[in-house]
Amino acid sequence: MTFGAAASLTNHASNYIIMSTPSLFSPAKSAPTSHKPMNPRTKKRIQLIKTPKNPTFEPLKDRLIRLSNVGQIQEAISILGIMTQQHQLTPDLTVFSILLKSCIRTRNFELGKLVHLKLNQSGIKLDSIVLNSLITLYSKCGDWVTAKTIFDSMGDDRLRDLVSWSAIISCFAHNGMESQALLTFVEMLRHGEHPNQFCFSAVIQACCNGDKAWIGEVIFGFVIKTGYFELDVCVGCALIDLFAKGFRDLVSAKKVFDKMPERNSVTWTLLITRYAQLGHHEDGIELFLSMLLCGFVPDRFTLSSVVSACAELGFVSVGRQLHSWVIKLGLCSDVCVGCSLVDMYAKCATTEPMEDARKLFERMPDHNVMSWTAIITGHVQSGGLDTTAIELYCKMITQGDVLPNHFTYSSLLKACASLSNLQVGKQIHNHAVKSGLGSVNCVGNSLISMYSRSGSMEDAQMAFEVLLEKNLVSYNAILEGYAKTASSGDAFKIFNQFEETGVDSFTFASLLSAAASVGAVGKGEEIHARLVKSGLDSNQRVCNALISMYSRCGDIEAAARVFSKMEQRNVISWTSIIISFAKHGMATRALEKFDQMLNAGMKPNEVTYIAVLSACSHVGMVSEGLKHFNAMYHEHNVSPKMEHYACVVDLLGRSGSLDKALDMIKSMPFKADALVWRTLLGACQVHGNTELGKLAAKMITGQDPDDPAAYILLSNLYASKGQWEEVVKIRKTMKERKLVKEAGCSWVEAENQTHKFYVGDTCHPRSHEIYKELDELVMDIKKLGYVPDTDFVLHDLDEKEKEGYLVQHSEKIAVAFGLISMSKTKPIRVFKNLRVCGDCHTAMKYVSVARGREIVVRDSNRFHHFKNGSCSCNDYW
Ligand SMILES: [Zn+2]
Ligand SMILES: [Zn+2]
Repeated sequence: MTFGAAASLTNHASNYIIMSTPSLFSPAKSAPTSHKPMNPRTKKRIQLIKTPKNPTFEPLKDRLIRLSNVGQIQEAISILGIMTQQHQLTPDLTVFSILLKSCIRTRNFELGKLVHLKLNQSGIKLDSIVLNSLITLYSKCGDWVTAKTIFDSMGDDRLRDLVSWSAIISCFAHNGMESQALLTFVEMLRHGEHPNQFCFSAVIQACCNGDKAWIGEVIFGFVIKTGYFELDVCVGCALIDLFAKGFRDLVSAKKVFDKMPERNSVTWTLLITRYAQLGHHEDGIELFLSMLLCGFVPDRFTLSSVVSACAELGFVSVGRQLHSWVIKLGLCSDVCVGCSLVDMYAKCATTEPMEDARKLFERMPDHNVMSWTAIITGHVQSGGLDTTAIELYCKMITQGDVLPNHFTYSSLLKACASLSNLQVGKQIHNHAVKSGLGSVNCVGNSLISMYSRSGSMEDAQMAFEVLLEKNLVSYNAILEGYAKTASSGDAFKIFNQFEETGVDSFTFASLLSAAASVGAVGKGEEIHARLVKSGLDSNQRVCNALISMYSRCGDIEAAARVFSKMEQRNVISWTSIIISFAKHGMATRALEKFDQMLNAGMKPNEVTYIAVLSACSHVGMVSEGLKHFNAMYHEHNVSPKMEHYACVVDLLGRSGSLDKALDMIKSMPFKADALVWRTLLGACQVHGNTELGKLAAKMITGQDPDDPAAYILLSNLYASKGQWEEVVKIRKTMKERKLVKEAGCSWVEAENQTHKFYVGDTCHPRSHEIYKELDELVMDIKKLGYVPDTDFVLHDLDEKEKEGYLVQHSEKIAVAFGLISMSKTKPIRVFKNLRVCGDCHTAMKYVSVARGREIVVRDSNRFHHFKNGSCSCNDYW
């Protein structure tokens, strides 16, 4: 959710109502006698008394008018009570009319209804002025039925005038009954009334929503002919809305604005807000500057619009200047402006996330649900501060005077999703249900995401099913859940369920990632074809997902084609293509793209740098990598995180500079985590450094004693050195701790089906053919010089057994299957859940020669392209 200008403008009204209700006093208390039916004789007496001037009447009336003019309506109404009860006076229509108008002006609608009640009890015959005010009152309450009843009753008494018509047209226009408004306008013309400025602006307002905009244009012609355009600001404002909202045409809206003979702060603010709402933030800010130059003073709405524009653009310095304006204008305590500022600091925070927002929030004198939600959402959106967001929520509910709304819950559930904290997630789910917001769409959608991201697809499915109104977001959330948990089959099933009702770019992005996670390039291509058909294939989000899908499925050239055809690229597009080249070991192309990205003026982010650094480490470009690592903070203000250090440790370690890698770990500004040490241990294995390897393994198991990866890496390291006793010791420890190595498995996609193989797997229906092919293959590649590398196999087997064991590796079975089942023109793409082993890597090179086939292997770390006897990784992996 954004707390943008749109939200602040539409919310402020309802907010105001909420804020003013507590001051409402009970009608029963104030007018105890008025509930008795009016005695006709009393009524007569009152009228009799009224005619000769009562000396107390005029001063009381004066006081009442004064009070209602300054907005002290409750006090004014109590004088009404004094008049009728203490002095048996009947207030006249002027008094009621003034009271009603003040109620409308200050949006005290409930008090307005009370005045109406008293008016009915007084028995005075109402005139057009009062009746018109009553129409407006009920229109603003949203009670168009009562407004219409009053309007209809006026017809019988011939009390309708132009103001009544305008009021009822405006009532329909503002209560979602645009057609009724237009019909009433026509009826009014038939009655021979000539519309004035108020009438025109009401009817134009009725045309501001999409399909009726063309009628608005007709009325625009009418307005120009009658000359009201030059005459009135209201008409101009309505026309700005007609073009901005009805046609989404800001150029014409601006033309109307430029032609307006007179402008005020309201007009300026209106235009600025519309620019912001349509995403033209920069133009909005520019307009704001012109507004200041023309000498207009911004109000709380202007400022919150422009602050929101800064938030969207990341213009924190402009935002800060606006903050000082806010202070200057004394609007600091305004909740609406405060919310926009909190939101702006939250979104623009770079170095110290949320610090400014937090300070501002703490300084705000009052908090409402919007400011609490803004600060909580800010923490969730800034990333990595989810725990603080939940702490803030606890503070909010313990203070107890503000109740969370559906946006608050939605943000909190997002925090739980990021933390994968199912327990807290369930508690918040409970709170939302208790407050009756559990089935509100946006809460339900966040619930689905929370459960699916916490790995509980069952709960996610349940949340999905109980959702009353499923929309596209709900479908996308559940689809994304299945896509991420690699149940791509379920993901496609869900897709088939709602494809008819309409899908969007999010749907396709999820589906593409489902296809990518299992490497189903066939499915991916099928989705691509549908995208072309639906015209979504040039959508930025979709293109980004396509790049990643093709690259993860092993077709890097297809990924490059999608990227080159893109018209508008954002930081994700650039990062995706860089990461794709990096994973495929094409460091030069990755770095070329990075240079182009900088030249295009795009600012790299943390993920871009992970891509750049891993591109360098995959090919051993040490100095280049270090250069980028130093530049990332100094030139691009991106602070290195754990992942970046892990990349550099990998870069140094794999190139053989193990000591430098260790120095790097020691110089880190935070404590190295298991990932960093695992990277170093991997490098130790490559270079056979047992001493450092032992240290790294100790550091990993110190942090996570049940991490099988550390034991396996260390055991491999000892095995490669022939230190078999150590290997046996490690295996024993693993057994004691009941740690199992993740079973290696490989899969290939053939004819839109995924075929999965484990070590020595004989479950496949064609397994007889597969093993026959595998035997022949091994014989053929041995002739070409392949020698099985039995180093990594346990020493208690004889050579023949060791060889047999190696041959049964899942990636070899997968390749044999690919050879017998796939078209000879396409490369064989194999996917493996772990890293490819050294022997299989060598064997694949020979297979590419023996069978003249290109083989692409995606392992847990990167891609290997085997062609004509060599691998794209140049054996650097
Ligand atoms: Zn292998
Ligand atoms: Zn390779």
